[in-house]
Amino acid sequence: MITFGPVQSRRLGKSLGINNIIPPKTCSYSCNYCQVGKTIKKNCKREYFYKPEFIYERVLKHLKKLNKNNYPDYLTFVSNGEPTLDENLGEAIKLLKETGIPVAVISNASLLCFDSVKEDLQLADWVSFKIDAGDIITWHLINRPVADLDFENILSNIKLFRDGYQGRLCTETMIVNGINDSAENISSLAEIVKSINPEIAYLAVPIRPPVEKFVKLPDAAMLNLAWQAFNKMHIKTEFLTGFEGTDTGYTGNIYEDILNITAVHPLREDALYILLQNDGAAYSVVDSLINQHLIKSIIYEGNKFFIRDYHWAV
Ligand code: SF4
Repeated sequence: MITFGPVQSRRLGKSLGINNIIPPKTCSYSCNYCQVGKTIKKNCKREYFYKPEFIYERVLKHLKKLNKNNYPDYLTFVSNGEPTLDENLGEAIKLLKETGIPVAVISNASLLCFDSVKEDLQLADWVSFKIDAGDIITWHLINRPVADLDFENILSNIKLFRDGYQGRLCTETMIVNGINDSAENISSLAEIVKSINPEIAYLAVPIRPPVEKFVKLPDAAMLNLAWQAFNKMHIKTEFLTGFEGTDTGYTGNIYEDILNITAVHPLREDALYILLQNDGAAYSVVDSLINQHLIKSIIYEGNKFFIRDYHWAV
């Protein structure tokens, strides 16, 4: 399946997925939390998969089937492996842009050492890079890269790419319990992400079945710590905890408002009171959400915050 969706994405709105990697799953990483499955071909050399014209034709066919309300905001390369392994990625992006729909690529950034990969990604309107580790040991633990890759080199190449990039650059960090959620790693991660200066840094948790059974969701307190550490560095940070709600404000539906906001960032108690007031709701709503294990409270630096309780997902 080359195209799928559109799926509702909080990052991109309605996103039509494009899988440009022909099976088996081919990737330069073998992340322990990967939801696509085990990396069968572990590779960091670019190769040819589908012809760009074929991808374009499949996308056009898919678009024709969609009604106006379901038309995608983005065409997104989110593959059965690492999309930049495809030698034809740039050509495919060029063709797809003829649809008038912006193109996004979700990448692990590990192939940016190749100028051709940088050039291809420059053509995309939105790019997200995976940054899960603050040091080389954690990188090996969580991403399990192919032997030829170099951690520092990837980080330098992300910055080189960013310097010439005209589109929207984001980062995505998966937080896994006991693997990369230590205070030290989170602090190094925040420094690395700050140096990259993305438009938004997303913090994700493994809510879908991971390839390794030992992968567990992080404790809500550690996720909160990560958000606070990023926030202190003035990095615009949002959660991707699986709840693809609309953004904040108040809508009159206090349940949705609290869930939407806490899906994106911790909600401080004083802000919660204002929200309740605006929505004309009582505090019992908060108790009800806590009792249903939809949110939980956390004390951080003397303030009470509310955060999504995603442990229902395990
Ligand atoms: S980089 Fe992406 S596709 Fe590759 S193993 Fe990691 S999560 Fe899976």
